[in-house]
Order: sequence, then C-alpha cells, then structure tokens
Amino acid sequence: MSSRSHLLNDRTVEQYRRSLTDGVERVAGKIAGADRPFTGATPEQLAPAVAGIDLEQPLADPSAALDELEEVYLRDAVYFHHPRYIAHLNCPVVIPAVLGEAVLSAVNSSLDTWDQSAGGTLIERRLISWTAERIGLGDDADGIFTSGGTQSNLQALLLARDETCRLLALKAEAEVAGGETPQPESRHALRSRLRILTSACSHFSVEKAARMLGLGSEAVISVPVDSERRMQTVALARELERCERDGLEVMAVVATAGTTDFGSIDPLPEIAGLCERAGVWMHVDAAYGCGLLTSRRRALLDGIERANSVTVDYHKSFFQPVSSSAVLVRDGATLGHVTYYADYLNPERSAKRKIPNQVDKSIQTTRRFDALKLWLTLRIMGADGIGELFDEVIDRAADAWKVLNDDPRFEVVTEPQLSTLVFRYLPPATADRTLTDQVNLHAREALFASGDAIVAGTVVDGSHYLKFTLLNPETTLDDITAVLDLIAEHAGRYLSEHGTHAEAELSTPRAS
Ligand SMILES: *Cc1c(COP(=O)(O)O)cnc(C)c1O
Repeated sequence: MSSRSHLLNDRTVEQYRRSLTDGVERVAGKIAGADRPFTGATPEQLAPAVAGIDLEQPLADPSAALDELEEVYLRDAVYFHHPRYIAHLNCPVVIPAVLGEAVLSAVNSSLDTWDQSAGGTLIERRLISWTAERIGLGDDADGIFTSGGTQSNLQALLLARDETCRLLALKAEAEVAGGETPQPESRHALRSRLRILTSACSHFSVEKAARMLGLGSEAVISVPVDSERRMQTVALARELERCERDGLEVMAVVATAGTTDFGSIDPLPEIAGLCERAGVWMHVDAAYGCGLLTSRRRALLDGIERANSVTVDYHKSFFQPVSSSAVLVRDGATLGHVTYYADYLNPERSAKRKIPNQVDKSIQTTRRFDALKLWLTLRIMGADGIGELFDEVIDRAADAWKVLNDDPRFEVVTEPQLSTLVFRYLPPATADRTLTDQVNLHAREALFASGDAIVAGTVVDGSHYLKFTLLNPETTLDDITAVLDLIAEHAGRYLSEHGTHAEAELSTPRAS
C-alpha cells in the first residue's frame, strides 16, 4: 500500500471505517473480557516486548499492528472500567464522550484560532459559559479548556500573579505621583515578596506552578488543616496578617474543593470572606470536586461562586476520557495576561474585528477540541446523568466508610465528603511503626502484582496508608469488602513471614 493510502481523505474513507471498526472491536473484546483490572505484568516482563519491536520495519496492515498491540499494551493495560480498579482519580468513561473523542481526532480541529475550528470554538465557549454559570461566577466570567488540573492551576496562578503585580504597580505609580515614594520597586524585587497560601493537603501542582512561575517553592505557605483535612481558617487569617506585617504580598489563596487524598472541601465561604477583606485573589482547585456542580450535593460547593478563578477536571468527576479540564475566571479581562498577538496566527486586527481566537486566552497554541466530548455527553445523557453517577459513588464511599470503621483489622482516617477512603491495615498491637508501614506497603504491592484489584497508597502524618478512590458506580460494597479481605490476606501473609514477635499474636484472634 502506498503511504498516501494512509492519509484520511475522500478516497480513503472506506479504509478509515474498516480500520477504526477493527480497533473498536479489539477494545470492546478487551473490555468485555477483563476479569481483573490488570494482569500484574511488571516493567521487566513488558520491556523486552516493546524494545524488541523494530520501528524501522512497519507492518503496513492495521490488523497486524493491532495484533502486535495486543501483546505490548492491550493485554496488560490497566482497565479503569473494572469495578476493582479503585486506586487513583481515574474514572470509567461514558460512551458519548468516547464517541466525541473519535470525532474530534478525525476532524482534528485545533482550537487556537477560529480559522482552524469554526463551530468548535463556539461549542467550547458555550461549555465554558455553562460551567461558569453552574459555578455562579457572574456575567463577566470566561475561561479556557486545558490539558488537566495541573495546567489549569498553573494558568490560574499565572493570572493571579500578573493581576496582583498589575494592581501593585498601579498603587506604586500613584504613590510616586503623590510624592510618597521616590522610586517604584523593581519587578524582580516585587516577585520575591509574592506568596501563595494553600492548605497542607492541596495538590502538589500548586507548588510546581510556583516554581514554574519563577517564584520558587518558598513562595508557597502551607496552612494547617483540621482533623477532617480542611484548611483551618483561623490559621489562614493569621497567615494573611503575618504576611501583611512582614511586607509580603499574598498573590493568591488556593482553596481545594476535594483534596486528592481525602476529598475534603475547604470552608469556601469563610475563605472567600477572608480573601475579599484582604483584597486577595481566591483560586478554588475543584479538579476533583467539580462533579458536585451536577450533583444533588451542589451545596457542598457553596462559596465557590466568590472565587476569582476555578479549576475543574472533567476527566475526573464528569466521566470524561483524558484529557479534559478547564480554568474559569470571574473577570474574563484577566485572561489578557496570557494574550500574545502573533502576526501569522492571531494578529491584533482580528481581535479588533472580534474574531473569536481562543489562543488569546490560552497558554497553549495548537489545542485539542476536548470540549466536544463534554458537549456530546451533555447532549446525550445530560448534566443530571453525570450528577447521578457521581452521587452514586459518593453514597458508596459513605457505606464503605461504615464497613471500614467497624472492621477491627483496619483504621480509617476520616469520614469522606466525596469518594475517597484513606485507611491502613493494623497489625497486632505489639507491631512497631516500621512494621505497620511495611505491612501496608507490601499489601498494596502484592495486590497490584496479583492484578486482582488496584488500590492507591499515601502518607499521612509520616505513616503509610492505603487509599480507595471510588469513581465507578459499578463498584459494589461486595467488591469493597472483597478487596479488604484480599488486603488483609496479603498483610497477614507478610506478617507471618516477617513479623518476628508479631507472629505469635497472629495465631490468636484479636479482640476488637
Ligand atoms: C488531580 C488533581 C490535580 C491535577 O490534575 P491533572 O488533571 O492530573 O493535571 C490538581 N488538583 C487536584 C485537587 C487534583 O485532585
């Protein structure tokens, strides 16, 4: 076959149909047949197969390439649709969104400019307005789709930084004009005084953004959390005062609506009040909690409407395939901080003619039409449909918490507001802290290696814990108790092999 026969065009649509149908059939087969979320394949087992493929020798035939893909990927992939995948914030995907994915990559619109996307731009804009309306950001709100929460947080903090600097520069100019100060502060000196306040449980992308923005990790001040892992507002108020006293400029307070580990939601109304009083940009990272916008628990997000910017990850709690995320701002004009007019792409005259070029608002240039997936999801199943699915996993997490809390083999950290459970296996009382850590680390690894279920792990106050992230309504309470039994089995086996003095205790049933 000639190379040109692989180009998708009017003469090759039959090949397109056949090729994609073949691919869809293979995936359908895998999904129908997966009896475990994973085969437990190790990097050592898979690496030779991948390395052994000669990339200089194409197979030409799509069907042969798919056969090969079975060996190097599909057979041993991690399947998020499986009810016993309960590890990270990955959702099973809804079919309308997968349909959208197929359409958007074939048409391949790029949403940077109107002349590369046309209606796609309008669809993205409608979805930004829809999301901003659900949040309650007001008439001047705007935003942009991004690749994920990390990028959304980075862009929000970039806007917060530049908006803070703009306002401080205006203030300094007024002071110079008023004769209060002889010289305005250099931009460099100002940047070293910028601070971001966020809870100890916020996502690491906040600190990473600070580094990428040239502020360094020291710009991020960690505010302590309460026993439910929510930001302590008394401590936040204290930090705001301390910064003011020390001549530091708080460029943003980052509140989290759904922390990655605990699903805890910071007290948004109180934080909004403190930010308004101090004149500080409030960013809400709702990468995880955004699904509440469509749920009967919408009230958990009360206060989010007072934010200056919000991160939402549709690829977490809206059941969308990776990637699909957005950053929203209360004042659309602040997006001007990322605007650059390039002669070849989006010259200033196109802005004057009001041609909707989304690149004016984005830190990306060429950009996927991810919005189409959400569009088809809303048009086929509706927002309430998404909310129902998310509510179901939150209900399940509440039931699972009761099970865990009543089970003497385990200790659970907090009662979930969303759908995560952080807990650990408790060896007999005589076990020391190191052994407790090792048992839990081992149980997670052994479970992963078996492929029977996948759970996550995290560190709480210096100790190793296990974590369930429930995002699949198909995960039943029976699945959860079965996974707990598997964890206990792996832990028990480890203890009998490694737990020196703990061994004796194990043979006698522990009193609860
Ligand atoms: C997952 C997550 C992020 C990062 O989002 P990505 O889409 O993985 O880049 C940011 N914040 C929170 C609270 C998250 O849970």
